[in-house]
Parts: sequence; structure tokens; C-alpha cells
Amino acid sequence: MKILVPVKRVVDYNVKVRVKADNSGVDLANVKMALNPFCEIAVEEAVRLKEQGIASEVVVVSVGPAAAQEQLRTALALGADRAVLVESDAELGSLAVAKLLKAVVDKEQPQLVILGKQAIDSDNNQTGQMLAALSGFAQGTFASKVEIAGDKVNVTREIDGGLQTVALTLPAIVTTDLRLNEPRYASLPNIMKAKKKPLETVTPDALGVSTASSVKTLKVEAPAARSAGIKVKSVAELVEKLKNEAKVI
Ligand code: AMP
Repeated sequence: MKILVPVKRVVDYNVKVRVKADNSGVDLANVKMALNPFCEIAVEEAVRLKEQGIASEVVVVSVGPAAAQEQLRTALALGADRAVLVESDAELGSLAVAKLLKAVVDKEQPQLVILGKQAIDSDNNQTGQMLAALSGFAQGTFASKVEIAGDKVNVTREIDGGLQTVALTLPAIVTTDLRLNEPRYASLPNIMKAKKKPLETVTPDALGVSTASSVKTLKVEAPAARSAGIKVKSVAELVEKLKNEAKVI
């Protein structure tokens, strides 16, 4: 079974993001970038399925600038076999990314596509769902457990108030939740080996996909700064303040 794992280059989760002075977006100058954490979990799951002898090949794909090769190399160091970069410097919306991924799915014919449930930069949580709709594949989102059973994949999903298990007929789309697994660290020998693994670059034009967007970002603003809290000395003082200052009791 071939598994395709779409991975996104995002601002590292440790970075405190700043908004550009003209409010046109987030300032990415000299900011540390990384593999989206949910995509790391997706790569880990695919690699584990390969280690169990269930998957035969793990292909990672990223849509983004040439610099996204760094994140593809990271995924290769974590155990993926091959990488594809759909190179574009444009700021692409989820639908454009999903259309590009659909073209890669058509070309690669994977049995399983594992995506992150969301990218931590835009928090869209929609690319996997859109790809499922475009490709006509079944989808199991927010997976905390994935089990291949013959021509089906059983996906345990984290839903409000509990867990739901769905059986999807392959080929299928799975998106990863936080508790699916704990990704490994790339070892130095594997980082070295990853440099020699195949990385193919294609363009949206070559895939025959128009990336024109119907969504335009008008403005990006930082959340309003919160004023500092205070410490009270006693319960009586707290009650007094809640009553007379906050007027909530
Ligand atoms: P989102 O819908 O943007 O929150 O992203 C959900 C998931 O879709 C990510 O975790 C990735 O697996 C995939 N994805 C989103 N954007 C890209 C991209 N530019 N390239 C590759 N995969 C992506």
C-alpha cells in the first residue's frame, strides 16, 4: 500500500508571531520555520505502518516555496521514502492546496492519504476534508487510532464527549489528532540519509491546476493586549472586588 502524506511548512510553534506593520499578514522575516506538528504525527503514523509491513512506500508532498524542501527533508529523515514539492510562492488558500493535492493523488494513486487535522499557522482545519470531497474518498478526521483491516481502515475519531470509530473503504483520507502517536526525533544518520532520498519538484501549471483564489485577506490584526491581573490577599477581598468592581456577583 502506498501512503501519501501532505506536509506544510509553518512558523515554528515556539515563535511568538508578529503582525506586519501594514496589517497585511504575519511577519515571516527571520522567523524559524518548521514542519507543522500535526503533519509530523501524520508522517509518524505512515512510517509506523511501513515498519509493520502494511505500507510499501511513504511519499510526502508539500505545496509551498522552494524553502519547503527543508520540511520535506525533515519528513524524509523521519522515515518517508520520497518527496514531491509543488512549488509556488503564492499565498494559497485551502481549496487551491486541496486541488493541487488532488492532482498529486491522481498521479501517485495512494491507498491512504494522511494529513494533519490542521496547520498551526492558519488553523483552517479544512484541507483534508476538501481533498476527500474532490477525490471522492471516504474521510476519517481527528484520528486518535488508525487500523488497517483488509480493504478497510478503521479510524477512531476524537469527537465532542467521546470517541467514534468509523470503517472506511480504501482509498481513504485520514487526518491526525494530537493523541494518535508521539513522533520520533530524526537521528543524525537518518538526517544524512535523507539528503540522498529523491525529491521531485513540480509546478501547479505542470499539474494543470489553476490556483486563483476566491478568498482575499483584507487585514490581519494581533489580539487586543490584556491588562495584567492582580493578587488578592483574602477570600473576603476577592468577594468584595467581584461584587463592587467586577459587579459579577
Ligand atoms: P489546514 O486545513 O490548512 O488547517 O491544514 C490541514 C492539513 O492539510 C495540514 O496538516 C497538512 O497535512 C495539509 N496541508 C495544508 N496546507 C498544505 C500545504 N501547503 N502543503 C501540503 N499540505 C498541506
